[in-house]
Amino acid sequence: MKIQQTLVLIKPDGLVKSLTGNVITELSDTELTIVGAKVVQVTRELAEEHYQHLKEEKFFNELIKYIMGEYHVKRVLALVYHGENTIKNIRKVVGSTHPEKAEPTTIRGKYGRVTSKGVFENVVHASENEKEAEREIKLWFRPEELAYTIYPTDTKEVKKVEYFWKS
Ligand code: UDP
Ligand code: MG
Repeated sequence: MKIQQTLVLIKPDGLVKSLTGNVITELSDTELTIVGAKVVQVTRELAEEHYQHLKEEKFFNELIKYIMGEYHVKRVLALVYHGENTIKNIRKVVGSTHPEKAEPTTIRGKYGRVTSKGVFENVVHASENEKEAEREIKLWFRPEELAYTIYPTDTKEVKKVEYFWKS
């Protein structure tokens, strides 16, 4: 048994289809803990960095448009799950990448589809292995946004601009 953290994204198709509740309920069956959560408007830079390993694929441009929300809504819900064997446990509930090959009882099997452009709109992202999980969590979250961190952190003083609501 190994304590791990994993990044889960509810992708724009999941948000447009109002699947947030369903996805979180299904993931709660794993008895893992959510230690981070936020809504993110995905920039091209973040999208390309997140999917850097797929840069050479012919579906890359469509994938970037999909995760940026060009086909649905311009936001994703980013979550960090924490617990024993998180990566494998979450991937099991999420299901295979191709929605038609995913077990029908998994999130992707239930709610995913393949578009005519060939993109797998599979509702959620979940980190594949420890190396990717660490890279992705550090890409999407700052340490202070997580209730609990498993990776070492550091501090540095920065000049900061803060925004307030106008009274
Ligand atoms: N994807 C796609 N067509 C493919 C392979 C992947 O549209 O032939 C999309 C799909 O949305 C997938 C994402 O690219 O979730 C990332 O691909 P990866 O191989 O990392 O699969 P995952 O880790 O998400 O299961
Ligand atoms: Mg992947």
